Amino acid sequence: MSDSNSPKAAESQIPQGQSPSGLFRGRLGAIATMHRKEQVMAPLLQHGLEIETVIPTDFDTDVFGTFTRDIERAGSQREAARRKAEAALKLTETTLAFASEGTFGPHPSLPFLPCNRELVMLLDVEHGLEVVGEAVSTQTNFRHQLVTRVEDALAFAKTIGFPEHGLVVRIDPDTSPDPGIEAPIHKGIVSEADLVTAVEWAIATAPNSTAHLETDMRAMMNPRRMKVIAEATQDLVRRIHQTCPQCNTPGFDVTRQLPGLPCELCGIPTGLVRAAIYQCHQCGFQHEVLFPNGVSTADPAQCSYCNP
Ligand SMILES: [Zn+2]
Ligand SMILES: [Zn+2]
Repeated sequence: MSDSNSPKAAESQIPQGQSPSGLFRGRLGAIATMHRKEQVMAPLLQHGLEIETVIPTDFDTDVFGTFTRDIERAGSQREAARRKAEAALKLTETTLAFASEGTFGPHPSLPFLPCNRELVMLLDVEHGLEVVGEAVSTQTNFRHQLVTRVEDALAFAKTIGFPEHGLVVRIDPDTSPDPGIEAPIHKGIVSEADLVTAVEWAIATAPNSTAHLETDMRAMMNPRRMKVIAEATQDLVRRIHQTCPQCNTPGFDVTRQLPGLPCELCGIPTGLVRAAIYQCHQCGFQHEVLFPNGVSTADPAQCSYCNP
C-alpha cells in the first residue's frame, strides 16, 4: 500500500498559473545525499525541472542524525531536510538544492502498521522558494530483533529481504559492557559471512550474550526505502508544477481540509472532508475545491444521527 497525503482532486478544479519551467531550466541543483539517493532523485529532477544536478563531495549527512540513533536527529523532519539542503548549498556554492529525510513509525491512521514517510525538499534561495513532496508507504522492513544464537540471526535476515536489504548488528544498547563507552555498531552488512562474524562478536562481547539486529534503513542499503524516496521526489515535481493562478509561485497546494461532507441519508454534515483549501504561501491567494476525494455524500455509517 502506498498513498499520497494530498486529496485526489479533479485536476480541472485546480486553477493553474504559468509553467514554472522558466524558474529552473538550465540551473544546477545540489542533491544533499551521501547514501546514493541521487540514483532515484537525479533522473526525476533533471527531467521534471530541466536542470543539471551535482552531489556535494565529502558531504556527511550523518551529522544531521542517523536511524541507528548513534546520532539523534534534532528538530522536525522538515527542519532536518532544510538543514541538509542549506549545507549542500554552501558546499556546492549553488542557489538550488534538494534534500530528503525519512521517518519510520506507526501509520498515522492505522497505528498497528509500520510505515515509512519520506519527505523531499526543494530549497531555492534565488527565488525564495521552499517546496516539499511526500510519500507514505507501509512497504517497509523497519524491524529489529534480539538473538542469542547465530541461527536465529540468519532466520531474521531471511524475513527482511537480506542481503538485498542490509543489516546492522550491535550489542543491546541497554547492556553495554562499559556504560561510559559507546559499543561499536556494525552497519551495512550485506553478506552472510559478515553477518555471522558480527553476530558472534556481539554474543561474545555483550554481558547478556545477546546480539541486537536491525534493518539498515540508509537508502543505499534499503531498496524499499529507495522506492518511497522516488515517489516523494515525483510528488515534489508535481507540486512544483502546481503554480499559483495569481502570482505563478510554485507549490500552490492544499493547506487545509474542511469537514462537513453531508450524510447520504439525512444530509447532516459529517466529520468527513467536504472541501480542500488551496493557498499560495507567497501572495495568499485561496481557492476552494469541493468534494476533493471525489464523493459528494458520506456513508450513513459515518453519520452521528443515522449511526449514533
Ligand atoms: Zn445521516
Ligand atoms: Zn500567489
